[in-house]
Amino acid sequence: MEKFDTEIYSKKVLKTIRKYRLVENGDKIFIGLSGGKDSASAGYFISKYVKENNVKCDIIGFHIILGDFIPKDVEKTARKQAEIFGIPFKTIELKNLGIDMEKISKLPRPVCSSCGTIKRYLMNKIPREMGGNKLCTGHHADDFIVFFFKNILGGNISWISKFTPLLPGRNKSIARIRPLFFVGGNENKKFCDALKIPYIEENACPYISIKKRIDKRREKWYETVESISRWQPNFRYQMMNGIISLSSHLYSNLTEPKECKICGEPTDGEICAFCKILKEIK
Ligand SMILES: [Zn+2]
Repeated sequence: MEKFDTEIYSKKVLKTIRKYRLVENGDKIFIGLSGGKDSASAGYFISKYVKENNVKCDIIGFHIILGDFIPKDVEKTARKQAEIFGIPFKTIELKNLGIDMEKISKLPRPVCSSCGTIKRYLMNKIPREMGGNKLCTGHHADDFIVFFFKNILGGNISWISKFTPLLPGRNKSIARIRPLFFVGGNENKKFCDALKIPYIEENACPYISIKKRIDKRREKWYETVESISRWQPNFRYQMMNGIISLSSHLYSNLTEPKECKICGEPTDGEICAFCKILKEIK
């Protein structure tokens, strides 16, 4: 077992924040804290960077309460993380927005994909309505490498233009910042363990067992990335730099998002994916 060096890891993350100007004076940054290790690590470093560099900006920990089917510990852990980072913590509850995950889980579409759509939608809309200009997420190198291959395989090349540490805001889409762009999921876990930052192990969702097969495949992709980086230590770094340069070439091809005819939120089509799901459960 190779030793994990928190110093090297911290340097990589802080360098990403500095080099790509993820944080600037006047920002109001919402950090999506899911309770997991990745967003915990992202939240830790954004807060640290702001404090150490005396950046004049607001940071808010933000958590979506999916429903009673998720153990209460998830929210508690996310709250605890925000407390450790010394940042305010805000939650929204799906049931208060009239969104019933129980009903959504019975739709003839994968529940994980519906849940992802709902989270992405609210993670953009709510922070923006609260005056936020940036959303920080815990997406890391492994996520982007896996998305990258899946997009290549699926022929969705234009999506790769969004794979960058800082995706600028466009119309109603607020900017996305990804401080963990150059580090892997396993490193985030080791870092949280080393600093004793509490986090929830993945798959706290009871609906995941329904989609076990898809999830197994997902796991395989991630294991593959991890195993390549074992014999090619620079794999993540090289891959991510390659993806950044490809994404900058593709960025000009990115079409401006339209506004959903029902809710006015950004979408590529006429009606956004969120409204489509809500229509089905009505
Ligand atoms: Zn809509």
